Amino acid sequence: MTAINSELIIDGNVLRTNISYIKNKLENKSKFMAVIKSDAYGHNLEEVTEDIDDLADGYGVVRIDEARKIRSLSNKKILLMQGIYSNDEFLEAKDLNLDMVVHNQDQFQIVKKNNTFNNLWLKINTGMNRLGFEIDDFIDIYNKYLSNKRFTLMTHLAASNDKDSISNQNQFKLFKDLSNKMHKDVDKSIANTGCIMNFPDKLYDWVRCGIGMYGGYFKDDQIQTAMTLRSPVVNLRKIKKDERVGYDGRAVAEKDMLIATVYLGYADGLPLNIKDGTNVLIKGQKAKVFGRVSMDLTTIDVTNINDCNIGDWCEFFSKDLSISNIAKSNDLISYYLMTGVKSRVEKIYKRAD
Ligand SMILES: *Cc1c(COP(=O)(O)O)cnc(C)c1O
Repeated sequence: MTAINSELIIDGNVLRTNISYIKNKLENKSKFMAVIKSDAYGHNLEEVTEDIDDLADGYGVVRIDEARKIRSLSNKKILLMQGIYSNDEFLEAKDLNLDMVVHNQDQFQIVKKNNTFNNLWLKINTGMNRLGFEIDDFIDIYNKYLSNKRFTLMTHLAASNDKDSISNQNQFKLFKDLSNKMHKDVDKSIANTGCIMNFPDKLYDWVRCGIGMYGGYFKDDQIQTAMTLRSPVVNLRKIKKDERVGYDGRAVAEKDMLIATVYLGYADGLPLNIKDGTNVLIKGQKAKVFGRVSMDLTTIDVTNINDCNIGDWCEFFSKDLSISNIAKSNDLISYYLMTGVKSRVEKIYKRAD
């Protein structure tokens, strides 16, 4: 007998469908960088690379060990989106033929020392205030070292999901004014998923798409969640009106109820603060979280589920229950849920046909 477990099932076909849908919006004018940092947002770096390699023009990661894994599978462009933090890393990046972001003076010193200016992405701070050169500092560097070099000028938006945020317009303007001062062979890149969706005239030479591929972009329901998190029901019990369920008695029954206990808790990556009333799916029917998430268990109100049994799967998100649903109703973001599933959950990757 095999032990029961919760499962994280990843569907390569959904990834491909999402990518094709998003790429349609580029109208072949921009190249598509598939952002697969953090183990492809928890979807499995190597499987994803092999499943989508024909659709991507390049890949974006943060860690050099991820870049190394991709390089063993693909000859496409690979960008280290935070660049390198030591000379050794620089040399390895060069060896692997990686592109690299240069976001501050320390990194630029390493580049200068090695006198190798190929495949650089110069990152500019236009308002995120996290990484990137200040514009005036960058203009000095450009005039001294880059005015006859090919490179990519990039920046990152702080509020791309919000079409009306003034910060986007400010960032676009700073970026455009700066790019007008560069020679004409400088490539440009701003767009993450939110920008692709909301600002189709700001896609420039490269888009850097992450969350949309995985189906975690919440403002477009053509995009489907590529991962399913599901867990078996391990117990069922009837409770009476006014009885309480779980730690601190947070959930109070307003009527007689049927409660299912499922085999997934915060030690599996389901956030502790999931609220009562959060939708889940059992047998294709909606049920609701009822009671605080425990380390290894979560309790669900299945009073209205037709024929709920021990062993039935409870889906927390899937193609049929968007990950944005659970994220939004709990003041979380889908990125956090995708990357949070722990290793004791069984991961099953279904390759694209
Ligand atoms: C993660 C990341 C992206 C991808 O953003 P999404 O919102 O997931 O599309 C793009 N650019 C940079 C620099 C990133 O770090």
